[in-house]
Amino acid sequence: MLFVLLCGLIYFVAAPNIDTIVSLAKRRGFVFPSSEVYGGLGSAWDYGPLGVELCNNVKQSWWRWLVYERDDIDGVDSSIILNRLVWKYSGHEATFNDWLIDCRKCKGRFRADKIVDNKCPSCGASDWTEARPFNTMLQTKLGAVADDDPTALAYLRPETAQGIFINFLNVQTTMRRKLPFGIAQVGKSFRNEVTPGNFILRTREFEQMEMEYFVSPSAEHSKLVDYWVEQYLEWFGSLGINRENLYLYEVPKEELAHYSKRTVDIMYRYFPEREKPWEELMGIAWRTDFDLSTHSKNRLDEEGKRINPDSTEDLSYFDEPTKQRFYPHVIEPAAGVNRTVLAALMDAYSERTNDKGETRVILKLSPQLAPIKAAILPLAKNKPEIVGMAKAIKRSLQPVLRAVYDDTGGIGKLYARQDEIGTPFCITVDHQSLEDEAVTVRDRDTWEQERIKVTDLAEHLQKRLKPYPLATPPEPI
Ligand code: ATP
Repeated sequence: MLFVLLCGLIYFVAAPNIDTIVSLAKRRGFVFPSSEVYGGLGSAWDYGPLGVELCNNVKQSWWRWLVYERDDIDGVDSSIILNRLVWKYSGHEATFNDWLIDCRKCKGRFRADKIVDNKCPSCGASDWTEARPFNTMLQTKLGAVADDDPTALAYLRPETAQGIFINFLNVQTTMRRKLPFGIAQVGKSFRNEVTPGNFILRTREFEQMEMEYFVSPSAEHSKLVDYWVEQYLEWFGSLGINRENLYLYEVPKEELAHYSKRTVDIMYRYFPEREKPWEELMGIAWRTDFDLSTHSKNRLDEEGKRINPDSTEDLSYFDEPTKQRFYPHVIEPAAGVNRTVLAALMDAYSERTNDKGETRVILKLSPQLAPIKAAILPLAKNKPEIVGMAKAIKRSLQPVLRAVYDDTGGIGKLYARQDEIGTPFCITVDHQSLEDEAVTVRDRDTWEQERIKVTDLAEHLQKRLKPYPLATPPEPI
């Protein structure tokens, strides 16, 4: 934990634990427990007015960074429910399992790989049943069919990646892509987690930002994994996530997924108060050519038999320069929207105590993530000219940045409320504004104020809402 003494004011930097964020998130309209009027639904959360903006800002930042600023990545939005055969050939039906164990003493059920020191998290005993597999794909039934009709079985996707692989040729041919290139997708995924929990860190319904980067089989795959790790460290930095709170975990061979030859997880310090503070924020995997080849009709096994007799397509690629046909290899950075939001909130959290001993929460969100960029506050809400001018400023700023008008309290309260939700700028319209056509701009982090002409305001704010650092262009591969 970090304490910083600045001009007689004490900052307490980063949230001490997830619970601090849970309470702020509920108090200020970021995240609410879902279905609360019926007693809730374990580990499901609803995003409120500020939470939905924060999630959208994370997703937009990611999309701009990968799809717009680079020239080698396209986006798609595939269905959540895919043909069941996708999950058969991807290996998910057979292997997308968590290993379950039961505590013989308290009958609690847990994921075997999450048990620390062989002790039951509920009762402390160490008397376990044998581990057994549990498939975590969420099932549903399609159409008006009988309950026991096995042909109606379908799954809610457990990852967005497969929707990209099955569209590989569609994107490659319509966008006339040559290797290397990537396809990005952001959307909901579902997993029937055995032990969901820790707020939005592990839920059964969540959102992923996945990108499949297709490269030649002869590319330097391990170097490309390192390249994407660096790129994402830079992107997380641009979201205000402190490098000190990130840690790279090289997944050992025996823990790799069936499709992966190398995976590096970027872990975040979600539990600063615990001895083991790290949990996965995202993973970067070299998925080899497994996915494209497994969905292809032409791939043969060692005896010359088709591996996939159900596929009607061959997802191979013809490389003009070498006149060779092959299945591209894939480097996949897979990140969670919700875990990114939680990390950004934890790193942005700070408390400031003034010399009267009053403590305030200040959410130092990166301006690109802040749900509201500027709050326009009239100093006197019973003065129609001041109110009119403030509302007009709000309307004039709205096309360039997210602005709100607020007159629901005294100025001190309004400042405190905006600090707590991370609004970078408060703009106060006062009596003098009516004469000099200027307003006071107050900075969230320094509490410094400056007087700015209304005509210069939009440009001034845009300059100070610094753009995020761009990712460096890719090395030739
Ligand atoms: P974990 O080991 O924590 O279960 P994972 O390795 O299974 O995660 P991936 O399959 O690599 O996760 O998924 C990519 C990303 O999707 C994760 O890094 C995480 O950010 C997000 N994610 C996965 N499962 C969940 C979940 N249940 N709730 C919220 N986010 C999730």
